[in-house]
Amino acid sequence: MSRVVVLGGAESGVGAAVLAKVKGFDVFLSDKGQIKEEYAAQLRKWEIPFEEGQHTEELILNADEVVKSPGIPGIVPMVQKIREKGIRIVSEIEFASRYDNAKKICITGSNGKTTTTSLIYFLLQNAGLNVGLGGNIGKSYAYQVATEHFDYYVLEISSFQLDDIYDFRPDIAIITNITPDHLDRYDHKMENYVAAKFKITKNLRSDDCFIFDSDDEITVGHLSKIVLRCKMLPFSQEEEVKQGAFLKDDKIVLRYDKEETDIFLQDLSLGGKHNVYNSMAAALAAKATGVENDVIRRSLATFQPIEHRLEPVLSIKDVLYINDSKATNVDSAWYALECQKKPVVWIVGGTDKGNDYSVLNDLVREKVKAIVCLGVDNSKIHAAFGGMVATIEDALSAKEAVEKASKMAVAGDVVLLSPCCASFDLFKNYEDRGEQFKAAVRNL
Ligand code: ADP
Repeated sequence: MSRVVVLGGAESGVGAAVLAKVKGFDVFLSDKGQIKEEYAAQLRKWEIPFEEGQHTEELILNADEVVKSPGIPGIVPMVQKIREKGIRIVSEIEFASRYDNAKKICITGSNGKTTTTSLIYFLLQNAGLNVGLGGNIGKSYAYQVATEHFDYYVLEISSFQLDDIYDFRPDIAIITNITPDHLDRYDHKMENYVAAKFKITKNLRSDDCFIFDSDDEITVGHLSKIVLRCKMLPFSQEEEVKQGAFLKDDKIVLRYDKEETDIFLQDLSLGGKHNVYNSMAAALAAKATGVENDVIRRSLATFQPIEHRLEPVLSIKDVLYINDSKATNVDSAWYALECQKKPVVWIVGGTDKGNDYSVLNDLVREKVKAIVCLGVDNSKIHAAFGGMVATIEDALSAKEAVEKASKMAVAGDVVLLSPCCASFDLFKNYEDRGEQFKAAVRNL
């Protein structure tokens, strides 16, 4: 019996281990840190041996194949030893796809992945298809391949998950856009990050589709250097395209095969220019899957905002509080500010990822009346925007930030949490930050 060792005991690692067990491998899972109780319980339930707090070489280097969780960087010593021994390392999605015949729609990119993935899932469900949702959202792909049967999967895929793929092939691949993020994992070289995202296209065949933002210079620049033999479906808000999606007056036009369909912008349930892009990408994926036009229109008109993404929380004394805690980089906060029509009290800050805030200057001058900095070290935000707004104050908790923002806001204003930064200085993660923000708003 061949031996599969899984490194990493969270969602994707445990999913891969369960699948390996179901497929009859001799499985072992190893995590250098502590494994959360829910995952340890699952491993026990499936009778999968595991260790935590260490990597025991004798139990790992005898593997025929290693499945590495995306969270583990390739430079850690154990991974290097595995490579030195010539043991093949694959990602969870590579491993799982060997046992799955479903059609796969796979979404990667810097921003808009979760929104676009959820939109496509909603569209395909509304079309009555037997479809699963996975990858970075909800249950791992591998776990679902082990325990369910779907005809279609919509998978949100991070560039880390693409690191160790070989034969993994989507039927429809989408790159939402590419802006600098997580450069630390790519030697601080943008071309490495771009190449990592483009790995999603590497096995596409002539019948497969590639959906991409043709307004995105980085994406288009990289496309000019490679050859793809699949169907190309660009989407653009700046120019008409021969096949794909574009804007014409107040409508999105979808051009697919010989057919053309219109969707009125005012009928989209999600606001903001960024969501026009996301809606275009999702609609094209649906068209390429054969979904009827009326289902596409109805779905885009009724889709509800996802938690922590420009999520309206409450209106108090005619001040609307919006939770955009997921905006963890400058580009996403740009779109959040861009779509605001009312004066903004902006809550911003956290763990800075080497941000260049200058691209926000015009929007801040035009829309932001006051700033609350929510972070341990707010010096960069003060330096960037201190001179542009009348009031700028610091806060060390979501509660303090909301209370300060509520005093700065008057009827007709918006209080927007769109932090531009990661959350780890004061919060467990972006969800925790968003939850604490919402709780503080409800307590006002
Ligand atoms: P991801 O899963 O890639 O992190 P999300 O769909 O969760 O993306 O959106 C995260 C944040 O990024 C949102 O709160 C929004 O402010 C912003 N955003 C969403 N879609 C886009 C887009 N297409 N381009 C730029 N920013 C976007």
